[in-house]
Amino acid sequence: MDRGIGHWVTRRAFLHGERTAFVSGDDHYSYTDVDRRTDQVASALRDLGVRKGDRVAVLLVNSVEFMELLLGCAKIGAITVPINVRLAGPEIGYILADSGADVFAFHEPLADGAVAALAEPGVRVRHRIRVWGPARDGEIGYDAFLSGGAAEPFHGDVDGSDVAFIMYTSGTTGRPKGAMLTHDNLLWNAVNVLGTAHGLRGSDVTVAVAPMFHIGGLGVHTLPLLYAGGTSVILPSFDPVGTLKAMAESRATVQFMVPAMWSALTRVPDFDSYDLSALKLAMGGGSPVPLTVIDFMQQRGVPFSEGFGMTETAPLVSILETDHVTAKAGSIGRVAVHVDARIVDPDDRDLPPDTVGELLVRGRNVFVGYWMKPAATAEAFRSGWFHTGDLGRIDPEGFITLVDRKKDMIISGGENVYPIEVEQVLFQHPGVLDAAVVGGPDEKWGERVVAVVVADPAAGAEPAAEDLIAWCRDRLAHFKCPREVHLVAELPRNATGKLLKTELRKRFTGVEGGVVQR
Ligand code: ATP
Ligand code: MG
Repeated sequence: MDRGIGHWVTRRAFLHGERTAFVSGDDHYSYTDVDRRTDQVASALRDLGVRKGDRVAVLLVNSVEFMELLLGCAKIGAITVPINVRLAGPEIGYILADSGADVFAFHEPLADGAVAALAEPGVRVRHRIRVWGPARDGEIGYDAFLSGGAAEPFHGDVDGSDVAFIMYTSGTTGRPKGAMLTHDNLLWNAVNVLGTAHGLRGSDVTVAVAPMFHIGGLGVHTLPLLYAGGTSVILPSFDPVGTLKAMAESRATVQFMVPAMWSALTRVPDFDSYDLSALKLAMGGGSPVPLTVIDFMQQRGVPFSEGFGMTETAPLVSILETDHVTAKAGSIGRVAVHVDARIVDPDDRDLPPDTVGELLVRGRNVFVGYWMKPAATAEAFRSGWFHTGDLGRIDPEGFITLVDRKKDMIISGGENVYPIEVEQVLFQHPGVLDAAVVGGPDEKWGERVVAVVVADPAAGAEPAAEDLIAWCRDRLAHFKCPREVHLVAELPRNATGKLLKTELRKRFTGVEGGVVQR
C-alpha cells in the first residue's frame, strides 16, 4: 500500500537527500530539508489537535510554505484545502465553511480577505496561522508554528485511498465545487505525466509559477517532479520578465503555464536575449493554447505540447505531443497511458468516430467525488464514467478535439453553435485582441449569438461591429455569425485566464445565473 505524497519526500530524502527539491529566492531546500521541515509541520499540526481527515485551508501564493503545509498535512492524513488567492472575503468564507476547515493558514498580504472571511456564516476555524508577517491576537506565526513541531520522523497512518486535497474547481460554469483527490489519484497522475513522451526525471527543473491553488500549478509538474526527485523553482507571482529570467537562470528543462501566461511571455520584447537552451519541453493547458504561441516557441527550437486536464482528474487527461502539435493543430491530443476516454450522446450511448458528443473519462487519477455534494457526484459519475461537461469528438487515431463546454453551447434556430469556433474566427481579425462569444435569448431563434470583443490598440482604429459581422459571414455559416458585437476594454477572466462567460452573459444578454433556459 502506498503511504501518500508525504512519503514521496521521505523516500527521496532517503535515496538522495542532498538533491534540491525547492528553490525560493536565494534559498535552496534539499529533499532532506523538506522531509525534516514537513515532519515539523506534521507534528505541529498534531499538537494543534489536527487528526486524519481534518481540513487545513491555505490561502497562500506559490511558496515553500504552501508546499510544506500541504506535505505536512499529507504525512498525518489531514486534507489540504487550497483557496484561490484572488477570491474576495465572502468567497473565501464560503470555502472555509463548505470544507469545514479547522485550521486556516494565510499569507500576510492576503490578510484583509482572510480576516473578512472568518466572519462569514458557517466558518468554524479554530486555529489561524499567519505566514510572512507577525502574528496578531489569537494567531500563530508560521515560524513559531514550525519550530514548535518536533523534527522526528513522522509515520502517519496514511493510505493511498485517503483524500489528500479538496481542490475547488475554477468556478467557470458556476460556484466552485470541492473535488476530493486522493493520494492515489495524485500518484496515478504522476505516473501519467512521467509516461508522456517527454517524461520527467530527477534531473528536471521547472519554474513553479502557475498558481498552486489550481490543480494545473501542482499537478502538471510540481508534484510529479517531487515524485521523480526533481526541482521546482517557486515564484510567488507571475510577471513575464521575472518568469523568463527565472527560467533562464535556473536552466529550466520543463515548463508548464496557462495559455495567458505563455502569451504574455512571448510578447516580452527582448525574449530572445534569455537563454532557454535547457528547455526540452514547454507545455500549456487549462484552456485552448493559441497557435501563435505554439509557433513562436517552436520557431525558437522549443518543443511545445498542449495538455487537457481538469481539477477532477488531478489533472492530466490527454496530451498533444510535440510531434503532432502542427499536424493535429486544434486537437488536445490522445489520452495519457492510464486514462480511457469515450464520446457519448445524451443517453450515454457511444458515438462513432468524428462525431461530437460529451467526453467521458475513466482512470485511477479520476477524483472520488465532490465534497458534501452526493447528488452532483452521482450525476457526474452516472454509468460509472466521469462526465466532463466538455463536448468533443475523437478521430480514428484517437486524437480528441474539444468543441466547447456543454453549458456554453448555443442553440440558434435548432442549429448548434460552438462559441470557440466563432471566437477563433474573430481572433484572426487584425483589429481584435481578445474575443468571447455567448448566447442570449432570442424570440425568433431561441438564442442568438452575441460577441464581446477587445480591440487591439496596436491596430489603430477600433473595428466597427458591422465589419466584424461581415468578417464572420465570409468565414462561417450564417447561423453561427454574431447578431451583436460589443466592444469592451477587457474581458472578465479568472486567475488562470479562463473566460468568465457567466459574467458576460449577465452583462450583455441580461441572463441571470449564466445559462439560457431552454
Ligand atoms: P467549473 O468546473 O467550476 O465550472 P472549470 O471547469 O473551468 O470550472 P477546471 O477544473 O480548472 O475548472 O478546468 C477544467 C476545464 O478546463 C475543462 O473541463 C475544459 O473545459 C477546460 N480545459 C482544460 N484544458 C483545456 C485545453 N487544453 N483546451 C481547451 N479547454 C481546456
Ligand atoms: Mg469543470
